Amino acid sequence: MRFSQDFIEKVQQANNLVDLISQHTQLRPVGNGLMGRCPFPDHQEKTASFSVSEFKQVYHCFGCKKQGNIYTFLQHYNGMSFPEAIEYLADRAGIALPVEENPRESAEYDQAKEKRRLLAKVNNIAAVYFHEQLRRAPADHPVRKYIAKRGLTPEIIETFGIGYALPDWEGLENHLQQKNIPMPLAEEARLVVARKGKPGYFDMFRDRLMFPIMNPMGEPVAFGGRILEQGEPKYLNSPETPVFIKGRILYGLYQTAKYIRSEDVALIVEGYMDLVSLFQSGICNVVATMGTALTPDHGKLLKRMTRNVVALFDGDSAGMDAAERSLPILLSADLHPKGLTLPDQMDPDDYVKKYGAEALKIEISKAPDLFVMILERWLESYRGEPSQKVQLADRLKPLFAAVPDARLRDIYVNEAATRLHVSDAWLREATGLPLKSNSYGNQPQRNQTSGGGSSARYAGAKPAAAPASNSPKVEGGVSQEQGTGSEKISLKGVPKPELLLANLVLKSRANFALFLEEKILDFVSHEGLKKILIKAADVYGQDLDKFDKLTSLFVNYVDQPELLFVEESPSGGREIQEFDQEKEEKLLKDCFKKVRDNSLKQQARSLADGLKSGMTPEKLEQIMQIQRNRHSLKNNGNQ
Ligand SMILES: [Zn+2]
Repeated sequence: MRFSQDFIEKVQQANNLVDLISQHTQLRPVGNGLMGRCPFPDHQEKTASFSVSEFKQVYHCFGCKKQGNIYTFLQHYNGMSFPEAIEYLADRAGIALPVEENPRESAEYDQAKEKRRLLAKVNNIAAVYFHEQLRRAPADHPVRKYIAKRGLTPEIIETFGIGYALPDWEGLENHLQQKNIPMPLAEEARLVVARKGKPGYFDMFRDRLMFPIMNPMGEPVAFGGRILEQGEPKYLNSPETPVFIKGRILYGLYQTAKYIRSEDVALIVEGYMDLVSLFQSGICNVVATMGTALTPDHGKLLKRMTRNVVALFDGDSAGMDAAERSLPILLSADLHPKGLTLPDQMDPDDYVKKYGAEALKIEISKAPDLFVMILERWLESYRGEPSQKVQLADRLKPLFAAVPDARLRDIYVNEAATRLHVSDAWLREATGLPLKSNSYGNQPQRNQTSGGGSSARYAGAKPAAAPASNSPKVEGGVSQEQGTGSEKISLKGVPKPELLLANLVLKSRANFALFLEEKILDFVSHEGLKKILIKAADVYGQDLDKFDKLTSLFVNYVDQPELLFVEESPSGGREIQEFDQEKEEKLLKDCFKKVRDNSLKQQARSLADGLKSGMTPEKLEQIMQIQRNRHSLKNNGNQ
């Protein structure tokens, strides 16, 4: 679904950033804002340097430079897409999503949406119920003993909402009845099963440790149940429902997205228990596939957070087959996959218990490129026979085709050619690639880190540049990801004085009033910035409360929102400086003068250029006027 700018703003205004961030860090009033410890896990700090402005609805960390509005926070902290963040916040504020244009589609859409809402509600009741059963279990209960054996702490149980399904056949069923949940709905949520040949239902999960599976909005949509002692199946998963499609959900992502983003690498494991025990040992940048093969949708989910993935596989042949299957999927998602197998058939939990988390972290950092790992497996029985060369070329062909980035593909071709003892040219031809990549000009760009961490993090949140032709089509395209249906306003190349101008005039109503009074807008040369200031003038004339939150709104529309954030406390945020009105006014006036002066200089230059192709009396008069203006500005400045 696409959202209009009006809708995006409406939802934004109906939610308070302070409430949302307060769920993750304690904020205290300092000066005219709020400060707390940075909630992002890559920024461990003892003193508070994370500032939130309730007035402006933006956050800014003086330490790690992360900043943004309520949407960017959800995208960065919980791994939601922009449309998901909009839906989440609309729901939170009780705002109905816009109805689609087509009435028939709309009716179907509404029905499906209502069904999803009801299923989410039932799942939520069940999750709370299971969690409560675990909380109530006495100390000598087998589930307590199991938890102690696995070493799960109360914090971990809380973080992942882990629960317990009683051995009763009708424990949850009775509870749902009491909550007036229709049993056919509970059956559709796959929480109860209809009895065969007689009326009634029984619980699907019995005597199991329950892991709620959350969507990126943090709603439980399904469950995984692990048996406590011996028995089959060891893991019982909810079957798919309209709210739970396995190929589209990664277990743990809601809780681990912020770590993945912070560390810029995701570890992919198979099961809940693997993930939870790694998380507990301090390796938190993990997701789990819940026993299914990786899908292109999983790839897309991961790419929102990072391009670097390390997939953990069992060292046996089934594990290696799984690694082989996932390679083209990860490559075509434009990810940079690495592969890791643990020795002696150990699972991550065993490994961490035996060698410690630090040892695993080292293994992860040394993990080989997944392509190379698979290639080496293929070469185990390679003796350089001509027919083997052809066979291997056939196996490599779909892998090469899956890589959207020609630069990476060329390296893979070279790597494979070297190991096969063939020429690059032969391998290119044998796998249907053009003899030489023409240019790398249109490759998806890895976002460059320039300056502090903040710009890189912003860049990471943006949808990738247009994918190369052979990469999978991104559902809904770039505008879907942005949710606005329009291109972002570019702030590329804004001259410094104009940037300072924008920062100053958007800072307060008083500054903006002065800006309008002195008609500075006419002198702004940068097109993107001008658009923003025109919009600001519009809002200023209509709705002053909205004007105060403009920076927060602009975060949605501009390509480099970090440029609009003012470092209000240059001392690093630890001291709040006294506001000095006189100083501020002087700064503002100087800035106006500079912008005006630059603009006049620019005009004079372009006129002079025009003159070379012929002088007219009008042009001459214009130049003289500009010179007079500049002169008078200079004199004013000297007063
Ligand atoms: Zn920070």
